[in-house]
Amino acid sequence: MDVFESVKNQLAKLNELVGFSEDELSVLLNPNRIIQVNFPVRMDDGRINIFHGYRVQYNDSRGPYKGGIRFHPDVNLDEVKSLAYWMMIKCAVVDIPYGGGKGGIEIDPSKFSEKEIERVSRQFIRSIYDFLGPMKDVPAPDINTNSKIMAWMLDEYEHMVKAKAPAAFTGKPLSLGGSRAREYSTSQGGVYVLLSHLRSIGKLPSETTVAVQGFGNVGSNVARILHELKFKVVAVSDVNGAVYDKEGLDILDVLSRYNKTSKLSGMAKSLTNAELLELDVDVLIPAALENQITKENASRVKAKMILELANGPTTPDADEVLEKKSVLVIPDVLANAGGVIVSYFEWLQNLSEESWLESEVLSKLEETMVKSYLDVKKVAGKHNTSLRNAAYILAIDRILAAGKAKNSI
Ligand code: NAD
Repeated sequence: MDVFESVKNQLAKLNELVGFSEDELSVLLNPNRIIQVNFPVRMDDGRINIFHGYRVQYNDSRGPYKGGIRFHPDVNLDEVKSLAYWMMIKCAVVDIPYGGGKGGIEIDPSKFSEKEIERVSRQFIRSIYDFLGPMKDVPAPDINTNSKIMAWMLDEYEHMVKAKAPAAFTGKPLSLGGSRAREYSTSQGGVYVLLSHLRSIGKLPSETTVAVQGFGNVGSNVARILHELKFKVVAVSDVNGAVYDKEGLDILDVLSRYNKTSKLSGMAKSLTNAELLELDVDVLIPAALENQITKENASRVKAKMILELANGPTTPDADEVLEKKSVLVIPDVLANAGGVIVSYFEWLQNLSEESWLESEVLSKLEETMVKSYLDVKKVAGKHNTSLRNAAYILAIDRILAAGKAKNSI
């Protein structure tokens, strides 16, 4: 099934709960602009290669479009459109003034030299720069793109518009106006929501067991932060499998060994990724891939709470099973919004020519995450529904309100 079909299905279900008008539904289901470019780039051997790139600008009622640019061979319009829609929702859930956007280039970066990747990045921006800018559309890194690529893209953009515009891209290196704490902001944001929830039920970190799937940027940082806060992180995993210690792993030791060997196996008892998802823990944190908790394994999940730091780790039919079992799911559009929030802070710092201390970034991130969580909980209570449905209801309400205030709906 096309990914955008699942966006439509989800909206249809929400419609049963809330009742949107025909006009509202058509605004939500149609992105403002779809940019599709085919651009030539000279390779190191002198040949010309044509690359296919996309940028979808979903809805700018609440502010400039915002979202990552990914480099992946499977990038396609349907996927980019869906990801732009989810960015629109995420920005509205945490109430930052952006509409959703997403971009991508169909490319397998492992097959190209660094110089070729630089030329591809620059040529893509030359092809679409007119649609970008601090008050139009602000890209960021995503899968297979990073701060170095943002620096090339910003440089190309500034050449094209003949002006300095650091706020045109986020996720930049610190030396070009990047923000402190950006590296671990997604994980830290999720931790603030988790702490807020535990406070509300009177449970201490030291009494709370956690399993984390994925040990990349998000998974390793969340495991480290929780360990430092005295949570018992009993299992972590990467693509090759998990390690488990029911007394809690020494995550700082695991990290330092993993950084040297890129291997988890041998550090503690081995488990498969499937077994990790079914551990009897208080909190399960998927931080790897989409579609990990499905109709097949949801009934065996024993965690009392799932903090979705990955995008789309739970399928809609698994959601229904978890809801029946009263497992609390903190949905991705809320739980992993820390990254885009700190991108927003980066943009604010650039626009005001400031550079905030790490402590300042973190306290503003905490305030935004906790407020968003409480907002979502309130809507869930009002509609007697899941936090996921509530997050979408809240976001869509804000998006439509902005459109109506401008008389564009
Ligand atoms: P990453 O590439 O740094 O790490 C991914 C991790 O997942 C790696 O440890 C990898 O070994 C593991 N993995 C891959 N395939 C797996 C499998 N089949 N089973 C178990 N583990 C597997 O990526 P990341 O930046 O940490 O992102 C992780 C997730 O968080 C993604 O869903 C991403 O979209 C989402 N996310 C990331 C950010 C961010 O700021 N990086 C922001 C929002 C959402």
